[in-house]
Amino acid sequence: MSFDFKKYIADIPDFPEKGIIFRDFSPLVGNGPAFKEAISELAEFGRRKGATAVAAPEARGFLVGAPIATELGVGFVQARKEGKLPRATESETYDLEYGTSSTLEMHLDAIKPGDKVLVVDDLLATGGTIQATIRLIERLGGEVVGVAFIIELSELPGRDNLKDYDVFSLTTY
Ligand code: IMP
Repeated sequence: MSFDFKKYIADIPDFPEKGIIFRDFSPLVGNGPAFKEAISELAEFGRRKGATAVAAPEARGFLVGAPIATELGVGFVQARKEGKLPRATESETYDLEYGTSSTLEMHLDAIKPGDKVLVVDDLLATGGTIQATIRLIERLGGEVVGVAFIIELSELPGRDNLKDYDVFSLTTY
């Protein structure tokens, strides 16, 4: 039987705005066996795709991406908010789900030539955050071999916006 990840995801009505149900994965991250199971299933997807690196946007993406990279024995690539990285970067601005915009940056040497990158985040909504991360990786010469999430919101067009990629998620709302 497959693992019941929803048991460890809290549903928060009207956050951060009225009418939005925020899916909070803090209980999952806070539970040893559940977190281990999530990381191991996402890592298995990355292993099948032949990933040689794992990339994620800050901050919740780091909680997912770094342990997957460790499990696969590959490096972790940070996509950080504007102005946080100390060396030369590529940057990409994108729209957020709640009507604002944001910029992500990656160090120019973050991707090695020929890297096959698994891109991960906690949650797929419109796909804007992960598309910006993907654009940075591709501009730096990496190949995105798969995109993986703990949570996918199926009412939003995230999966359609990622139709050129192999998308895997542990649980769907
Ligand atoms: P997208 O860019 O529209 O796909 O939104 C996904 C990003 O927003 C991810 O980095 C999430 O961490 C965050 N996000 C959006 N909605 C939620 C939610 O309901 N719970 C947790 N994070 C969310």
